[in-house]
Amino acid sequence: PATKTATSPPEQNARPAGHGTLYIVIAIIAAIAVAWVLPNWAIHLELGGQIFLRLLQMVVVPLVMASVMSGILGLGDVRKLGKPGAYAVLYYMSTTVLAVATGLLVVNLINPGQGIDPAIVTGAQEEAAEHVDKATAEIEKAAEGQEVSLGLIFKKLVLMLFTDNLLGSMVEVNLLPLIVFSIIFAGMLTTMGERSHTIATLVISINDTLMAFIMLLMKVAPLGIFCLVASRFGKANAEDKLDDLAGVLAGYMGTVLAGLAIHALITLPLLLYIFTRRNPFRFMVQMGQAVLTAFSTASSTATLPITMECAEVQAGVSKRSTEFVLPLGATVNMDGTALYEAAAAIFIANAYAAIDPSFDLNFVDQMTIAITATLAAVGAAGIPEAGLITLLIVLNAVGLPLTLVGLILPVDWLLDRFRTAVNAFGDSVGAAIVDTSFTDKPTDK
Ligand code: ASP
Repeated sequence: PATKTATSPPEQNARPAGHGTLYIVIAIIAAIAVAWVLPNWAIHLELGGQIFLRLLQMVVVPLVMASVMSGILGLGDVRKLGKPGAYAVLYYMSTTVLAVATGLLVVNLINPGQGIDPAIVTGAQEEAAEHVDKATAEIEKAAEGQEVSLGLIFKKLVLMLFTDNLLGSMVEVNLLPLIVFSIIFAGMLTTMGERSHTIATLVISINDTLMAFIMLLMKVAPLGIFCLVASRFGKANAEDKLDDLAGVLAGYMGTVLAGLAIHALITLPLLLYIFTRRNPFRFMVQMGQAVLTAFSTASSTATLPITMECAEVQAGVSKRSTEFVLPLGATVNMDGTALYEAAAAIFIANAYAAIDPSFDLNFVDQMTIAITATLAAVGAAGIPEAGLITLLIVLNAVGLPLTLVGLILPVDWLLDRFRTAVNAFGDSVGAAIVDTSFTDKPTDK
């Protein structure tokens, strides 16, 4: 990477980020203020928020397919994906492991939940019963009657790559099999010479049109984000849920937020600088709109269109990297979720010890949490609070009662936003790093 950057500065293709990020920051601050002062009025902004969210969601499936295909067509030969593909997988794995390690470190240092009032723990368990019933039913359905073991989780994760019904995957927005299909389909196209011309041109123009459409969406993003944030925070305020953020849960929230901050503000920027020599601060500003959209939507998948646009247009990461690192990353690379799962499991274990003093987590349990948290993050869908469902797998692995998630339920909607922001940022850093691994010059710029 070092010699490459000497000849071609990575930001050469970047365009100034403009005021987009600033407008969104203002929108979020204004939204929280409105939710604070006029919660019942703010709730009615939900419609505006939903419209914006749906506009984003409706581009996701065609965008993922068209961009992965046009990425392969740009390379001209699917085999050229080998080295960058290996880099991407290595990046996803190592950063997820780093995130889990950070989560474990911070939670073991702060130890939230120790000495918690046992009445709070039992009360929370009762409240969570319904949520857990629903989530366990989902997990049991996926397990098809087998016992949930590491082997089974692994098998399910591998099977998530393949589908028996392409249209079904589109309908359910299961991006992984769509990515696999698109890679193979475009790979075949590259071997067909003249005969592939019509479809190749079509795919590339669909992709370009969608990117232009997203550019337009980014113009209305501050308004959409204002509505999304105001209505969600307004709802929490109207239901008096904001009190939950203080007190017992403050320690837990502080732990997760500290871990996320270390990962997003120290670990990832360091990796970015070491591998690409980019200025991490500038890169954060360039990716600002994507990170803030992730915060506002709590969905990596819905944010994907904006992440791609910011990475390509504002940060100047070349298309050949963004077009497959970002779609894949949005589903499998969730650093924020991994970190949160590890920290939440230990917090819950600490709290459980208040009602069952014989319960103690040993080193093996901590390792089990680390491994299952990693897998749970890979398996979590890029939708709001998906991590809360896969957390049950982590709790199950160390024998904690599942209803204990009730403890963190009241604040999960808020933490979800922060971890989704870290998820999106982690993917963008990955796209910039993998970009340096292509051996030939970009053809698309
Ligand atoms: N909401 C997160 C995302 O979309 C997933 C999660 O941690 O719940 O990235």
